[in-house]
Amino acid sequence: MSSPCIFCQIVNGKIPAEKIYEDNNTLAFLDINPLCRGHVLVIPKKHYENIFDLPSKELINLIATAQKIAQMIKKNLGATGINLLHASGKDAQQSVFHFHIHVVPRYPNDGLNTWPSSRYQEKDLRKVKKALCQ
Ligand SMILES: [Zn+2]
Repeated sequence: MSSPCIFCQIVNGKIPAEKIYEDNNTLAFLDINPLCRGHVLVIPKKHYENIFDLPSKELINLIATAQKIAQMIKKNLGATGINLLHASGKDAQQSVFHFHIHVVPRYPNDGLNTWPSSRYQEKDLRKVKKALCQ
């Protein structure tokens, strides 16, 4: 069976990737369009599209692998911080529809800007909580 999913093809070895780590359930490889030096993607070997269809057991495996990669990046590349990033859905700027976690090394004065933040009005804070928890 041929798969159009680029990450499934990396898992199957049909598309080359610079693999960093692999176990029974997860694979980590260098992002070819890195935010910075040492940016790694961690994926499940099985195809899941996003956070909404990923079993929590798989997520536990993925987070454990992301932690291993973070430790490797800190130890071997000298990163002083890590961002774990994930996008589920087009509006979150997910570009490959095979679940993945970005492990992004951070270095002093690396110029990677954080997202803008805003502030709730007190009543809006409670409204959002009510909507979220219904
Ligand atoms: Zn896939």
